[in-house]
Amino acid sequence: MASLELRGCLEKELSEACQKLGLKSFRAGQLFRWVQLNAVRSWEEMHNIPESERRKLQTMLYLSPLKLLREQQARDGTHKYLFGLEDGECIESVLMNYERELSRNRHTVCISTQVGCAVGCAFCATGLGGFRRNLSVGEIVGQVLEISRSIARKDPPAKVTNLVFMGMGEPLLNYEAVLKSLEILNRETGQNIGMRRMTLSTSGVAPKIRQLGRDNPQVGLAVSLHSALDSVRNVLVPINRRYPLRELMAACTEYIRLTNRRITFEVALTSENVKRESAEALGKLLKGCLAHINLIPVNPVAETNMLKPKTEEISQFAGILESYAIPVSIREERGTDINAACGQLRGQWKVDRNESFSSL
Ligand code: SAH
Ligand code: SF4
Repeated sequence: MASLELRGCLEKELSEACQKLGLKSFRAGQLFRWVQLNAVRSWEEMHNIPESERRKLQTMLYLSPLKLLREQQARDGTHKYLFGLEDGECIESVLMNYERELSRNRHTVCISTQVGCAVGCAFCATGLGGFRRNLSVGEIVGQVLEISRSIARKDPPAKVTNLVFMGMGEPLLNYEAVLKSLEILNRETGQNIGMRRMTLSTSGVAPKIRQLGRDNPQVGLAVSLHSALDSVRNVLVPINRRYPLRELMAACTEYIRLTNRRITFEVALTSENVKRESAEALGKLLKGCLAHINLIPVNPVAETNMLKPKTEEISQFAGILESYAIPVSIREERGTDINAACGQLRGQWKVDRNESFSSL
């Protein structure tokens, strides 16, 4: 039985497979381009590879496209995709602000790395259902490939240029698969997405932050900080009990030393935590650190009852941080009307599974 997932293979692995099967080595390059550049969904589409060779390749390699179960479009042009996996699990991915970004030739895709999430942050829909499983490399890369294929067919054709690992799941708890996905998506003969145009967001898996600094110093890093106080962060981001702020910040300092890259610290703001004291504490914690703060007005999740702060409150909060000479930006809300914004992805398997599967 074929055991290698085509979409999860680097060209060198395809070369080894070709060699074992007695095929010419240039086939590996052709195969990689069909899969990673053209995003084919079937072997039949690879028409410059003779059928006899395709059959041989199928003894070692399998192609497993994601099933598009539903595509929704928000008022702001953001698209959300619900994908079905081989075992019936579902994940969501987001293409941000498609129409507006068209004029800038910039298209950012937000992808998932796990089905569900074990971290269980207080305001996040993904964590509510608990952890189901890690995604494979092919399933991570596959989300970009399906969206890339879809926008390449639009008029005018478009290309995925930026990637954020900010969908469902904690990327650093699926570390090896995420690292390999970055490598594949960065390949010039594939999607060719610059390493610096890809960003991982983590809830704060301190040892893996250090390891990332050594393994891949080019990819962008965002840390979901949310609070500078352990007592608050323990509740909002429960992984803080395992890696408290002192340990997290030591890992971030080490990461900055290794990479000389600025870390983006994400801070979700609710009507509860938008207080002056919270801003002062964050300012003190991050003062002098190569940091940027991204404020995220909390997006509604039915089960949590958290409310967005008022615009003036957010500006005041930003002002306090700026007084510590920390650059601040406020994240624009995207696709909230279709639950496609930060923390709203849940791969709606319970709600939608029957309806969606039967309608395709
Ligand atoms: N698991 C990773 C990446 C996915 S979440 C992480 O936690 O960093 C991406 C970002 O959305 C994180 O900063 C997360 O804290 C934030 N987030 C989660 N729920 C949210 C909500 N309801 N409103 C706004 N941001 C939210
Ligand atoms: Fe998991 Fe991130 Fe959601 Fe926290 S915010 S539950 S780490 S996906």
